[in-house]
Amino acid sequence: MKFFISLFILVIVVSCSTSQKNEIVIQELDYPEELNVITREAWGSAPLTKTLPQHEINKITLHHSGVEFKDQENVLTKIKNLQSWSRSEKEWIDIPYHFMIDLEGNIYEGRPINYPGATNTEYDPIGHALIEVMGNYEVQKINDKQLKAVIDLSAYLAQEFNVPAEEIKGHKDYSSQTVCPGEDLYKYLADGTIVAGVRERIEK
Ligand SMILES: [Zn+2]
Repeated sequence: MKFFISLFILVIVVSCSTSQKNEIVIQELDYPEELNVITREAWGSAPLTKTLPQHEINKITLHHSGVEFKDQENVLTKIKNLQSWSRSEKEWIDIPYHFMIDLEGNIYEGRPINYPGATNTEYDPIGHALIEVMGNYEVQKINDKQLKAVIDLSAYLAQEFNVPAEEIKGHKDYSSQTVCPGEDLYKYLADGTIVAGVRERIEK
């Protein structure tokens, strides 16, 4: 009898801890109106079904998708395809990035910010807020609207999570296996344009 009681208690303890571990928590951010963020709800993101240990943001890291993108009209199809590929092929919980920026500088929410992103390279994305600019900036050029969106979003995130401006970097700063975020985006990190723009917005 004693054995059955202990077994019963054990089952309760195990099921409580797993249900807590698997609970999906989504941190919703309160964006300023002028940032014009297209939320997951607005673009029709599929609800999360899996979870990960959460993290605290202390860095902002820029990416490109590495695939040429000129098809602005089909941007939502592209994002939804990325979501289903991430979940089914890669078995990630979601899109690897927290935000995506299209050719018009529109900002889309991706993976909820409280969960670390994902990567095919060797760096550890825990603590990083990941911003992806859609396209391949080894061959494409970043336009003014995209650059403005990168700076505006980085400034908002830096303030929201107390990230120092010098912690805004590119994927290749953490991994020698990639040229991401591509030459034409990385040059604005290298010449200080992005960090200076973020500082200017924060001081306002
Ligand atoms: Zn990257």
